[in-house]
Amino acid sequence: MKTECSAKTEPMTTDLRHEIGLGGRAPTAAEPHPAERPDTGHLIRGHARVGEWDVTILTDGFFYLDGGAMFGVIPKPLWEKRSPADASNRVLLGTNTVVLRDGKQTIVIETGIGDKLTAKQRELFAAKSLLPSAFAEAGIALDSVDIVINSHLHFDHSGWNTRRDASGQLVATFPRARYFAQRGEIADSRLQRERDGVSYMADNYEPLVATGQMTLLDGAAEITPGIRVELFPGHTPQLQGIHIESHGQHACYISDLIPTTAHLDPVWGMGYDLDPLRVIEERKRFLARAIAENWLVLFTHDHHTPFARLAWNDRGRPIVRMHEPSA
Ligand SMILES: [Zn+2]
Repeated sequence: MKTECSAKTEPMTTDLRHEIGLGGRAPTAAEPHPAERPDTGHLIRGHARVGEWDVTILTDGFFYLDGGAMFGVIPKPLWEKRSPADASNRVLLGTNTVVLRDGKQTIVIETGIGDKLTAKQRELFAAKSLLPSAFAEAGIALDSVDIVINSHLHFDHSGWNTRRDASGQLVATFPRARYFAQRGEIADSRLQRERDGVSYMADNYEPLVATGQMTLLDGAAEITPGIRVELFPGHTPQLQGIHIESHGQHACYISDLIPTTAHLDPVWGMGYDLDPLRVIEERKRFLARAIAENWLVLFTHDHHTPFARLAWNDRGRPIVRMHEPSA
């Protein structure tokens, strides 16, 4: 496949920022990624219980990002043991959406990549746009969702907030839902900075802000009893984790502060993080509580381990204590 790869070299016509900032090289081969397993194609990634809350993990499909960008200053010989790369140096990542149900409310955390990318972007990320199929497979109607929470507004976390209807109009994918995001995320997205502007796609949230369907939060907040958000800055200044608490049990969707189980070490940050030093401090703060209080930690981009409980090993490093059985 290497010959085909070099034969495909073309004049660079795409926005260079997309190439270097997010995607790496486009897929060149139909070979399975080295991280693929027999269950990699499943749309329902896991199931858990947190007190009254039934927790279902759905996916918009796995996608790829450059392994170097995902592991920042960590050398490849170290990170590829945890996260194998393909011939284009891309690692396999999940797009995990969490659905919480207690019999009264249905709450969605994060909405994947969506289906509004350009053809070139779709190719770069190998985006699959499977989240509505995952909802259908789980038997959860899109119009049954009461609340949608975005940890931040990067394109791979808010993509299915909206979709285009038959006439091409942008509409809410979850028509009855109230959406929640941080006001500072909207403000930063509108700056369209050279460093991170490419990560924001206004179609995912501006229509909801305009109609008032999206409520903008200023820091920590309770969304509904048992569900609250807390800022964990570093990846973006307003990244929020989502706490789920019921009957003495505690889960937390920590989003891109710790995107996968390969990123538990505080210094294993991402090249994408806007404030790497703050990421280290916030990870330490999070891990101290999550391990001491035995939280169920929900990972945004870990396709094969969407949640786990953590522990300190005998060298004082954070590890997965056990993989929760998924039913
Ligand atoms: Zn992300």
